Amino acid sequence: MNHLELIPFKDWGLGLGERMNISGPCSAESEEQVMETILGVAKHDIHVLRAGIWKPRTRPNSFEGIGSEGLPWLKSAGKAVGLPVCVEVANVKHVFEAIKAGVDILWIGARTTTNPFAVQEIADAVKGMDIPVMIKNPVNPDLELWIGAIERIYQAGIRKIAAIHRGFSTNSKSKYRNQPQWEIPIELKRRYPNLPIICDPSHICGTRDLLQPVSQKSIDLDFDGLMIEAHRNPAEALSDAKQQVTPEGLGKILNSLIMRHPDSDDPQFINQLALLREEIDAKDHQLIEILAERMKIAKKIGHYKKMNGITILQAERWDEIVRDRLDSAVALGLSDDIMNSILQLVHKESIRQQAYVMNSVEEEI
Ligand code: PEP
Ligand code: MN
Repeated sequence: MNHLELIPFKDWGLGLGERMNISGPCSAESEEQVMETILGVAKHDIHVLRAGIWKPRTRPNSFEGIGSEGLPWLKSAGKAVGLPVCVEVANVKHVFEAIKAGVDILWIGARTTTNPFAVQEIADAVKGMDIPVMIKNPVNPDLELWIGAIERIYQAGIRKIAAIHRGFSTNSKSKYRNQPQWEIPIELKRRYPNLPIICDPSHICGTRDLLQPVSQKSIDLDFDGLMIEAHRNPAEALSDAKQQVTPEGLGKILNSLIMRHPDSDDPQFINQLALLREEIDAKDHQLIEILAERMKIAKKIGHYKKMNGITILQAERWDEIVRDRLDSAVALGLSDDIMNSILQLVHKESIRQQAYVMNSVEEEI
């Protein structure tokens, strides 16, 4: 665990409480669109307003944002409802334009986080400023790169920092636009327990229908807020039309969420939880012992294979194991997918141990 000296939301001087919910359009398109959307979203449990001013688009010739002209639109909409505003910055010019316009919070977008040079330039630009900076995860599932970007901003002296989880772009087919891979933000939370993490379900989901369950999941995982894109008329949005909700749709999602707390002082609950956790601890240790025994057997097999000149892998045997174990797992109510991932990992380690025995060298598989 690492400790960052961070200033909590409530001391950012922006009227925030424990959580930060952010909403507003993906892109600022016109003064009226920004104002109407923001008057709508501000009726709900929203603490900060957003609008993309400079848009990083995958292909050229699509709408790349209105540019600096949109900054006063956002700022005056914020004033109209009495809420702070945030924008994405991707270079030094964006930082200075945003600060000049009185933007209250900056965020670094997923594409920018992938580039340490760009992040460092932004860090150098905000050095000495008292401006909060939020850092989205990089598009690729690389926790170290995300942490690296957070460290660059921290080393520039910024103490008002939050991470934003917006999912990861991967090759695997999924119902999500960007796979949540929750284990990555969970590991970030484990390493930096006092770093607030906000979930951006809009860019994870890519479609409105999935926003509610993903938002709820982030609450269940003790995230510190949400960033949800809203548009007065999503069908006409110039970017991310499918994932934006109307201000009313945003209200429905927010009202449906069940808030939970990371701890409780009810002694009965605490006792019950402690008992169950003891059981989990014991089971984990049993699992480790069984795994270690299984690996010892794998090594023995390695010796026999070596003596008889036999390959480590026999595809039919492996296929048989996968089918048999998945059948048993499913019969016991375990998920097919998760069991398959566990088997793959166990097999990978068995092969590594056998390769070591057979070649007396450590092998990367
Ligand atoms: C956005 O928030 O509109 C955006 C461009 O997001 P990301 O950087 O997560 O793709
Ligand atoms: Mn967007």
